[in-house]
Amino acid sequence: MIRSTCPYCGVGCGVILSPAGHGLSVKGDPDHPANRGRLCSKGTALGETVGLSGRLLAPVIDGAGADWDTALDHVAARFRDTIAAHGPDSVAFYLSGQMLTEDYYVANKLMKGFIGSANVDTNSRLCMASTVAGHVRAFGADTVPGTYEDLDEADLVVLVGSNLAWCHPVLWQRVEAARAARGTRIVVIDPRRSVTAEAADLHLAIAPGADVALFNRLLAAIADRGLTNAAFLSHVTGAGDAIASASAEQGDTGLSPADLGRFIDLWCRTERVVTVFSQGVNQSSSGTDKVNAILNCHLATGRIGRPGMGPFSVTGQPNAMGGREVGGLANQLACHLSLENADHRAAVAGFWNAPRMAERPGLKAVEMFRAVAEGRIKALWIIHSNPAVTLPEADKVRAAIAGCDFVVVSDVTGATDTARLAHVLLPAAAWGEKSGTVTNSDRTISRQRAALPPPGQARPDWWALAQVARRMGFAGFDWDGPAAIFREHASLSGIAGRLGRDFDISGKAAISDAEYDRMEPFRWPCTTDRQGGRFFADGRFLTPDTRARMVPVTARAPAAALTADRPFRLNTGRIRDQWHTMTRTGRAPRLNRHLGEPFVEVNTADALKLGLAPFSLAEVSSDSGRAILRVIVTDRVPGGQIFAPMHWTGETAPTGRVDALVPAATDPLSGQPESKAAAVTLAPW
Ligand code: SF4
Repeated sequence: MIRSTCPYCGVGCGVILSPAGHGLSVKGDPDHPANRGRLCSKGTALGETVGLSGRLLAPVIDGAGADWDTALDHVAARFRDTIAAHGPDSVAFYLSGQMLTEDYYVANKLMKGFIGSANVDTNSRLCMASTVAGHVRAFGADTVPGTYEDLDEADLVVLVGSNLAWCHPVLWQRVEAARAARGTRIVVIDPRRSVTAEAADLHLAIAPGADVALFNRLLAAIADRGLTNAAFLSHVTGAGDAIASASAEQGDTGLSPADLGRFIDLWCRTERVVTVFSQGVNQSSSGTDKVNAILNCHLATGRIGRPGMGPFSVTGQPNAMGGREVGGLANQLACHLSLENADHRAAVAGFWNAPRMAERPGLKAVEMFRAVAEGRIKALWIIHSNPAVTLPEADKVRAAIAGCDFVVVSDVTGATDTARLAHVLLPAAAWGEKSGTVTNSDRTISRQRAALPPPGQARPDWWALAQVARRMGFAGFDWDGPAAIFREHASLSGIAGRLGRDFDISGKAAISDAEYDRMEPFRWPCTTDRQGGRFFADGRFLTPDTRARMVPVTARAPAAALTADRPFRLNTGRIRDQWHTMTRTGRAPRLNRHLGEPFVEVNTADALKLGLAPFSLAEVSSDSGRAILRVIVTDRVPGGQIFAPMHWTGETAPTGRVDALVPAATDPLSGQPESKAAAVTLAPW
């Protein structure tokens, strides 16, 4: 019996694995603080996904099988030669929130400290980059203030742009348990009447992109009613400007005055309020402003860092948080240190004994693949991600990867749309076969543990990255396992702590391999003085003057304007039983029975007007691509809006690759693409 962590969403549920025949039996871990034994449909079916069909079992170079030595020498030589000829910014790593923290740490160290570029970004850019930028603007660091216990102790939970019941089901179960136990009220803010919205006490079907307008109205009402917290505001700057900006807000929320009033009344009179936000907020060309509009309301009222209250970002991926902690985004340094701060760079360079430290931010995901298309990136290593399907304007991204001089893909299969384009395929150990740590949405670090041997020549990612680093001539990549990498990361976090940063797990820096093996889930920070808990109730923030910032924000419309030719607003998202591009969940028959093919939800009146019969096929097209989708006629989506899930892949058009339709418009601060507001045409096929 082995305790591990589910590889899917950011809830980070603990699982208990038991070998069963050629596979695993999986059940919820009753002692894990995130789930206390609960699992959702995806977690419950994990044991059905560990079979070996389709696995990549040996390295491949230009379509031919190879051994590891040959493949690693080849990758190291191509990266070294490319850097020598074109400079360090001619290479890039594209990583994944699926990677373990130790793997992420090695990739980040290699690129930022030794290659000398910050061109290391991740599919987490598509997930929560706007939250990172909003947190840094308001708090001075990317700090999640609260904990999951706040959901148990809240009297009001506001879910913004989150279909929690499908996308973070075990957290939703906690919210429902709180409702049963203490009468917690639930408000859902979402243009679409999702399953979560149906279960809410109040559903606010706001106009797409209207979150800033809504939270500005709330902030103005808080000020008008004299509900600002004067004592707490002594720890905050910018309140006057933010409130003035909110009071002048003209943006249309799309809500009736009655619904708007109900929401404002509920929020204002409920002290214990948690505002949960997710991709509906983040995946926007004004995502950072939306995050700050939410944070402003909590800062103005001092409802932050105390039991049952605070803003709460829920991450999509299992280790988006761990990636943030090691600095796995192109504009971050390790341990929440700043790439643009010379003292921070010097501290990390000294710790790593780094010969060539990156000195400026690298290319964020959308920019990175644009640089690939333009030939500025000439060598690219993609690890556990499928950008040929998931990046906006995915057809262009697929063409860019196909045209790149040298592409390495590390994955568990060579059958993804991206892996098929690689010059070198490296067989990676999968979940259930590898060991390391992940961090969930409430800062809890948990172990993933191996329960099965890696098949064939599959190896962990940290090992492949370290081997390439050594073959490029770099010292400092000679760990003997993930425990040694974890200790190095924890030691570096102690330096970050002494520089005043929030991420400090130096209390674990001296643990033995055996202690790492049996390490229990723990919430950071973890130092000799402090263990877990909430941030900011004391009014001390991570800014130079220790005060939080309320940021004046103004509503902006989505980047893609609707036109007579493109009259529909396309919202994309997840379904309950699939994960990302279905590499794992697609293997479980019972998960495929829920919703078995790509579809589009169309409002009843729109379907009638366009002659779209239920379950017929429709073509959805935008300026960047097209998809053919099964029509579901429903009033879940308002007129003029359609919804399509993002999971389906495919080699040839027409397909269900909906990210081919999404424009590459990004938030100017976070670089996160606007995945929920494409302007599209809808027609019978
Ligand atoms: Fe896994 Fe998320 Fe489901 Fe928990 S809620 S079992 S972490 S997919």
